[in-house]
Amino acid sequence: MTSLSDLPLRDNLVGQEPYGAPQDAVPVSLNVNENTHPIPEHVAIDIVQSLARAVTGVNRYPDREFTELRSSLAGYLGHGLSVEQLWAANGSNEVLQQVLQAFAGPGRSLLSFTPTYSMYPLLASGTDTEWIAVERPAEYALTPEGVAEALREHQPDVAILCGPNNPTGTSLDREVILAAYDAFDGMLVVDEAYHEFDTERESAVSLLPGRHRLLVSRTMSKAFAFAGVRLGYLAADAAVVDALRLVRLPYHLSALTQAAATAAIRHADAMLATVADISAQRDRLADALTALGYVVHPSGANFLLVGGFTDPSATFEALRARGILIRNLSIPGHLRITAGTKAETSAVIEAITALGPGGA
Ligand SMILES: *Cc1c(COP(=O)(O)O)cnc(C)c1O
Repeated sequence: MTSLSDLPLRDNLVGQEPYGAPQDAVPVSLNVNENTHPIPEHVAIDIVQSLARAVTGVNRYPDREFTELRSSLAGYLGHGLSVEQLWAANGSNEVLQQVLQAFAGPGRSLLSFTPTYSMYPLLASGTDTEWIAVERPAEYALTPEGVAEALREHQPDVAILCGPNNPTGTSLDREVILAAYDAFDGMLVVDEAYHEFDTERESAVSLLPGRHRLLVSRTMSKAFAFAGVRLGYLAADAAVVDALRLVRLPYHLSALTQAAATAAIRHADAMLATVADISAQRDRLADALTALGYVVHPSGANFLLVGGFTDPSATFEALRARGILIRNLSIPGHLRITAGTKAETSAVIEAITALGPGGA
């Protein structure tokens, strides 16, 4: 047995930690922003039938261009998107990695506004891309002026705006996206992983016409209750999709993934039926924690960033001991909690109430 430090690892990976949200088998798992409702049985049966048909053909490689799935995704997103404007991979993490492989890499940079999704810097180091973190203003909401100034100053090759932002929940205004696009010459990715929960805002997909450097990233992992299948996707100019084809591995989406995702999209309404309830549970959790004296940041997603914990690690462990897993992202005084089912939300409210003031 040798150890990591004995290996000739690439310099930019030395000392890095792998992505590692705990995966405990606890009764109440509210730490990675999944939709905690199981998928409806009639949808599950239809998916299994599609998988059964697909499996008879797996002696052959799958459709490398996954045209049927892209056509389904184009239909789901609407806005007159064509198949050529859609792309997908095994989770939007893989889509984002392909974007960096195509448009960033050695000698180039990725900029985002922190705190934000913890995978962005990891994807940057994995592709040997310089990571530029610009701090968000107090209360985390980006402004057109602030974003434009940072992008003009740093001129990154790729910038990501996450809206609603993980882990703060902060929604992203259209004016911010427009100001960002005009402020620099690089590729602008809007990460809409939580878009379906943010019912008041129109998707940045509507801004695509005439903006060939704008990329909108989405996923089936959150609202769509399909995290285990691994399907993320992107809408952009057809030329951007051509660029991603240069870096994707051949046949990267398995025939089974394609069949499962295509079947699930046929049932989009049923798959998304729990979204309103999850948002209601999020608001109930926010009200309960506010009443207990915690600081709850406004959220357009299926989770809350909550401040006012005296010792977040201690609270995290106290809840874990009660079978409730939430997320400690090392933001001083803060913890992130996913909104789950009504019963899960009640469990987390009761557990935090039972702790003393400040969660101690
Ligand atoms: C969860 C999440 C993703 C996506 O993940 P995949 O499961 O890889 O699709 C992307 N961006 C943000 C901000 C997320 O929170």
